[in-house]
Amino acid sequence: MTKRVTILGATGSIGENTLDIIRRAEAGTYQVVALTANQNAEALAAHAKDFNAEFVALADPTHAKQLEALLQGMKIEIGIGPNALIEAAKRQADFTMAAIIGAAGLEPTLAAVAQGNHVGLANKECLVCAGEPFMAAVRESGAVLLPVDSEHNAIFQVLESDQPKGVKRLILTASGGPFREKTLEDLQTVTRENALNHPVWSMGAKISIDSATLMNKGLELIEASYLFNRPSAEIDVIVHPQSIIHSMVEYIDGSVLAQLGSPDMRTPIAYALGWPARIAAPVERLDFTQISQLTFFAPDLVKFPALRLAREALEAGGCAPCVLNAANEQAVAAFLAGRIQFLDIARIVEATLEREGRSRQFSCAPHDVAAIIATDASARRTADDHIVTL
Ligand code: NDP
Repeated sequence: MTKRVTILGATGSIGENTLDIIRRAEAGTYQVVALTANQNAEALAAHAKDFNAEFVALADPTHAKQLEALLQGMKIEIGIGPNALIEAAKRQADFTMAAIIGAAGLEPTLAAVAQGNHVGLANKECLVCAGEPFMAAVRESGAVLLPVDSEHNAIFQVLESDQPKGVKRLILTASGGPFREKTLEDLQTVTRENALNHPVWSMGAKISIDSATLMNKGLELIEASYLFNRPSAEIDVIVHPQSIIHSMVEYIDGSVLAQLGSPDMRTPIAYALGWPARIAAPVERLDFTQISQLTFFAPDLVKFPALRLAREALEAGGCAPCVLNAANEQAVAAFLAGRIQFLDIARIVEATLEREGRSRQFSCAPHDVAAIIATDASARRTADDHIVTL
């Protein structure tokens, strides 16, 4: 039977890797329902034509005319603006890949969840900023949430979810990013280009910076806590530079189950797209005779305070993870624009958490999307104040 697929964030790294797997499948395996992007009308139109999409949505209206011109004469419906993303997510699909970057993905992903079908979750930020209501929406609709983040996908694969009492801890692995071996002094002068140059994974710009600060691992810690219903104390982070083991679950009998593979996002994407069946992914196979060593060590929280801040936000609960995420998005954007230095990113996040925490005490567990959006907006304003005064 043909699987109807929607991709939210189709022009990004995860979106295009998903399309790559679809392209290689036998004709008739998939029908692309809807594709979305923010500004990149050219790539969106090209993908829509290549995959014969039924509907395309572009969030940023300033590129609407370009998209309309590119798709003129084609039988592809076009939607413009943030509501069009939600419309895309509401179109009947068997599988939706949620791969918009940042909190902007929250409402479209919730709309996809409300359909009650399969949702591949790459967009970790929406779970970080709205963990409890997001998981409540999943339970309510009966949607099957399939983690795409490689670590969470690994845990999903090895977690005996019918044995929750048998689990002792989740162990998230981290590559350590491009600055793993740099000193704190070196980090004062690293550039945007250095930070974008990840040694193992090929990813979009924002997540590459998050990997360099280790905020990515912090966001993943929060994501894992909500996805697998585990407190902070039962989730460890360990640096594993080879990125062969994608994460592990330790059980109370001392067994540790791990998922291994080449560092290529097409493996977890294929797992989510095909679930519950396994489907082929065009990734390099592991050759164990060529893997000379697998090393592990504890993350350095002095050099990489973002990971500490994320754990503190998770433990503070309420709206603290939402504030952390919003401040980080603003700080990363400012760093990518050349407005702040690398080490300023975590400083801004910490200062924002402090100021927002003083006024809110983080006691406000945001229950609905409107409350989350208000918290997110307030935290962004606070972060922006810190950015301009640096
Ligand atoms: P990219 O930056 O490569 O792509 C992001 C996608 O989202 C693009 O299609 C982009 O459109 C769209 N987009 C950006 N801003 C908005 C907005 N305001 N409104 C609507 N759409 C928007 O991101 P990645 O593919 O790297 O990451 C996507 C998600 O997956 C993130 O949450 C990331 O953390 C997660 N993830 C990514 C991994 C990776 O290997 N890349 C690994 C694990 C998780 P446009 O092209 O027009 O800007």
